[in-house]
Amino acid sequence: MLEPHSYAAGQWVAPARDAAILNSPVTGSAIARAGGAALDFQGMIDWATSRGGPALRTMTFHERAKMLKALAMYIDGRKEELYALNPLTGATRKDGWIDIDGGIGTMFVFASKGRREMPDGHVYLDGEIEQLSRGGTFLGQHIALPLHGVAVHINAFNFPVWGMLEKLAPALLAGVPCIVKPATQTSFLTEACVRIMMDSGLLPEGAVQLIVGRTGDLLSRLGPQDVVSFTGSARTALALRSMPNIIENGTRFIAEQDSLNASIMGLDVTPDSPEFDLFIREATTELTTKAGQKCTAIRRMIVPDAMMDPVIEALSARLDKTTIGDPEAEGVRMGALVSATQKADVLEMAALIGTETTRVYGDPDNFDTQGADPTHGFLPPMLFRCDDPDAAKQVHSTEAFGPVSTILPYRDTAHAAALANRGQGSLVASVITNDPQIARDITLASAHWHGRLYFNNRTSAKEATGHGSPLPHMTHGGPGRAGGGEEMGGIRGVLRYMQRTAIQGSPDILTAIGGVWVSGAKEKTGPCHPFQRTFHEIEIGETITTDPRKVTLEDIEHFAHFTGDTFYAHMDEDAAKANPFFPGRVAHGYLLLSFAAGLFVQPDPGPVLANTGLNALTFQQPVSPDDEIHVRLTAKRKTRRTDEYGEVRWNATLYNQHGDQVAEYELLTMVAYSR
Ligand code: NDP
Repeated sequence: MLEPHSYAAGQWVAPARDAAILNSPVTGSAIARAGGAALDFQGMIDWATSRGGPALRTMTFHERAKMLKALAMYIDGRKEELYALNPLTGATRKDGWIDIDGGIGTMFVFASKGRREMPDGHVYLDGEIEQLSRGGTFLGQHIALPLHGVAVHINAFNFPVWGMLEKLAPALLAGVPCIVKPATQTSFLTEACVRIMMDSGLLPEGAVQLIVGRTGDLLSRLGPQDVVSFTGSARTALALRSMPNIIENGTRFIAEQDSLNASIMGLDVTPDSPEFDLFIREATTELTTKAGQKCTAIRRMIVPDAMMDPVIEALSARLDKTTIGDPEAEGVRMGALVSATQKADVLEMAALIGTETTRVYGDPDNFDTQGADPTHGFLPPMLFRCDDPDAAKQVHSTEAFGPVSTILPYRDTAHAAALANRGQGSLVASVITNDPQIARDITLASAHWHGRLYFNNRTSAKEATGHGSPLPHMTHGGPGRAGGGEEMGGIRGVLRYMQRTAIQGSPDILTAIGGVWVSGAKEKTGPCHPFQRTFHEIEIGETITTDPRKVTLEDIEHFAHFTGDTFYAHMDEDAAKANPFFPGRVAHGYLLLSFAAGLFVQPDPGPVLANTGLNALTFQQPVSPDDEIHVRLTAKRKTRRTDEYGEVRWNATLYNQHGDQVAEYELLTMVAYSR
C-alpha cells in the first residue's frame, strides 16, 4: 500500500489515519492511502516566502536555469522509479512517456531558454528602450522582477509529473517558490517525483513543497504577491478564482480548464491524399492516448460532408487494431481511465452527447480487454456521428473526459470555422490541409477562439509534434471556456510569475538598474584597450573612441571590384544622384563596417576570442568619397557563457567628420576570463 506524504516546511508528513483509499483502475484493488494530514498552511506559506523566495532571488536567472538543468538530469537518471508507478494510474508506458519524459523535457527547455534568453543577472529587461524625450536625457524601459509571494500549483489527475514540472520550471526560473497540490487520485506519482527532487539536494530549502490531499484554508490566505495556477474542471476553477481574498488582492489566477477541441479536415482532402491518412492517424492517437483523458484531445472532428462515411470507415478500421487492457500487458495500446468514478463520469457525458448523435463505434457494454476485467476502469474508444451540427448543443458543450469524440459534417470553410468556434474557447484546434489559403481562412475566422492552431500536412507530417502536445516553447491555454489562462510559451511563461514595472529616468539611472549600458549614460576610459582586458575586467560603459579615417573614391572602387558589389550607387555618379537617398556616389555600408573593425580592433592575441555576430545594424547617413569616419565602441552588456569565457556586447557607433552618426550596431564578442 502506497502512502504518499506531503512535504511541508522541510518535513515529510504522512497521510492521516482516515486518509482516502485509492483503488487501482486496472484491478479495482486498493493501492494507496492519501491525504487527510493536518498541515500548517500558514507555516507552509511562511516557509516558502521566508526561505525559498529569498534563496531563489539571490540567484541570477542563469544560476536558476542551471539548477533546472541539473534537476532535469537528476530526475532523468531516476525516471524508471516513476515508470514503475505509472501503470497504477491506468496508463501505458507510452502514456507515461508523455507524462514523465515530457515533463523532464519541458524542464530542459526552460533551462536552456533561461540561459539563452534571460540575463545572467537579477533584472529582466522586457523590450527595448523607449525614447521619451527629444534630447535623450529621459528614457523608458520595462523591467520584470520576481513576485515575493508563493506560487500555488493545483494540478489535474491526468499528468501527475508533466503537470507539475511544466508549472514548476517557469516559476522556479522566475525565482518564485512553489507549493504543489496534485490531484489526490494520482498523487503517489507526483510525490515520487518530488522525493527525487528533494534527494537531489539541488533546490534551495523552501523552493518546493507538496500537499497530498486537500488544501484546507491555504487559498484563503493568499495575497497580492501570490499566484495560483490551476488545471482541472471549470467548476473548481470558478469556485477558487471567485474567493473573496483572490478577488480583493488581485491575486494572479491562471486557469486551464475544460476544452471542446476540434480537428478540421480541409476541403482539399480526399481519401487518396496523404492528408486523409494523417487526419485518421492524429484522430486515433488523440482518442486512445491516456484513454482520451487529455485536456487537448480532439472532442469534435469536423470533416467535409462527403468525407463523413470514409472517415468513419477508416477510423473504425484503425481503432479495431487498438488493444485495450492492463497497461503492463504485452501489446496493449490503451489502458484504463484513472478511476471508476472517472469512468462513470465519462459514460454520463457520453450519454448526453448521445441524445443528439448516433454512436458509430465502440460499445461500452461489449468490448474486449487483454489481461484485465473490462468492468474496472476500462472503456473502448467511442465515436459519435452528428448529422445536424448546427442544431446540436451538447456536442459543442459537453466534454466527456475520456475516449469519446464526435464527427460532424461541414459545407464550406467558413462553416467549418464556425463549428470549431462553437466550443466557446478551446486549447487547440487542428487543421489538416495541404492548401495554405484554407489555413489562412480558418486562422482569420477562428484564431480568436483558440489558444493554439495546429496545421499539419504532407510537408510537416514527419516532424510535426502532434495535435495534442503542448510544447514548452509555445503558449498552452485558451480563451473562454478553456479558462482564459496561458502557461509555458517560453519566457512568456516565466513572466507570469514576475511583476513588469515601467522604469523612467536618465540614461545613467537606467544603466544602473538594468546592468546594460544605455546610450547617453556615462562612458568610462579603461587603463588600456578594452580588447586587452579580460571578461571580468571590462566594465559596463567602458569606451574607446578611435582615430578618424578618410574614405576615398579609390577605396570604394577597390572594395566594389574586390567583392563584386558594383551597385550603381557606388559606381555611377549620375545614377546615384537620381536616387532619393544619395547625394552622389557613396561608400558601401559593408566597407564602413570593415573600416570600423580596422579602426577599433587591437590586433594582438588577447582575451577577446571571437566576433560572433552583429545585431540591429542601421546605416543612418550616406558617406561620400573623402568623408572621414571614426568609431565609438562602448561595452554594453556582459553575460557569462561557459566556465572559460563570456559574451560581451558592444555598442558601436560610426560618426562622420561633422560628428553626425552614420551607422550603429551591436557587436557580439566572446571574451576569456583569463589571459
Ligand atoms: P477537479 O477540478 O475536481 O480537480 C482538479 C484539481 O483541483 C485537483 O488537484 C483537485 O484535488 C483540486 N481541487 C478540487 N477541489 C478543490 C478545492 N476546493 N480547493 C483546492 N483544490 C481543489 O477536476 P478533476 O481532476 O476531478 O477532473 C474533472 C474534470 O476536469 C475532467 O472531467 C475534465 O473535464 C477537467 N479536466 C481538465 C483538464 C485540463 O487539462 N484542461 C485536465 C483534467 C481534468 P483533488 O484531486 O484532491 O480533488
